[in-house]
Amino acid sequence: MKQVQPKKKLGQHFLTDMSIAQRIADTVDVEPSLPVLEIGPGMGALTQFLIPKQRELKVVEIDRESIPYLHNAFPSLGQQIVEGDFLQMDLKELFGGRPFVLTGNYPYNISSQIFFKMLDYRDLIPCCTGMIQKEVAERLTSGPGTKAYGILSVLLQAWYDTEYLFTVSETVFNPPPKVKSAVIRFRRNQVTDLGCPEKLFKQVVKSTFNQRRKMLRVSLRPLLSQIDAQNGLSDEKKRHNSFLSRVELTKRPEQLSVADFVQLTNEIERECR
Ligand code: SAH
Repeated sequence: MKQVQPKKKLGQHFLTDMSIAQRIADTVDVEPSLPVLEIGPGMGALTQFLIPKQRELKVVEIDRESIPYLHNAFPSLGQQIVEGDFLQMDLKELFGGRPFVLTGNYPYNISSQIFFKMLDYRDLIPCCTGMIQKEVAERLTSGPGTKAYGILSVLLQAWYDTEYLFTVSETVFNPPPKVKSAVIRFRRNQVTDLGCPEKLFKQVVKSTFNQRRKMLRVSLRPLLSQIDAQNGLSDEKKRHNSFLSRVELTKRPEQLSVADFVQLTNEIERECR
């Protein structure tokens, strides 16, 4: 069968080591009763090990060249092969509105966007597994006090328990990526309500980590002024001095857990009322 030519702009790095493909496919076994959606099957390295699990399965692939290849290689899949862009898909109707497991050897160039989309659909995706860049995997699975801990770590860990499963060398791909890879698994935690206003939580996380070496009292001041402006309050410099002088705000964002960020968000909400 004619092989699919790897295309850089689609983030295509095809797995050539089938024992690793099998191990990645097996990460979906923690949720054995749910349907599976695979992003970016390519030439089916993972797909071939997902099919024998006899679960409801759909694969979504953006590359037109892959589609006939997949139909040929896996005739039993038929309509379960969907040509399209995962980022543009409405996930609600995929499996008749039922929750599903997301998996894949993800296109690394859009992995953050994939996980932001997953967060938007978090109640439909109780489990997400698969392979991404090692450096991103470390960020998503690190906790407070580590260098890798950042915006996406907090936003993701607010809703998911994250696990770093194993590292994969660049030599098992065609073409080899420039970086190492890692396999991760995220499972939806018990949280149904964050316990603070979600929009403000995201603003607090983003604006503090965007100046990650600064003390919170420094990076929060512009955010507080911005909220005041939205509330029609004049920009009076001293307004938040006593709030910002609190000793906890000498910390840096990487020292705060998800729960700390929730608490801080509530305090900011009260301060700006
Ligand atoms: N699973 C295969 C291919 C991994 S490479 C393997 O392990 O060998 C990543 C795959 O994601 C490529 O096939 C690429 O075409 C596909 N892809 C890239 N962007 C996509 C998108 N937005 N939606 C769906 N698939 C995408």
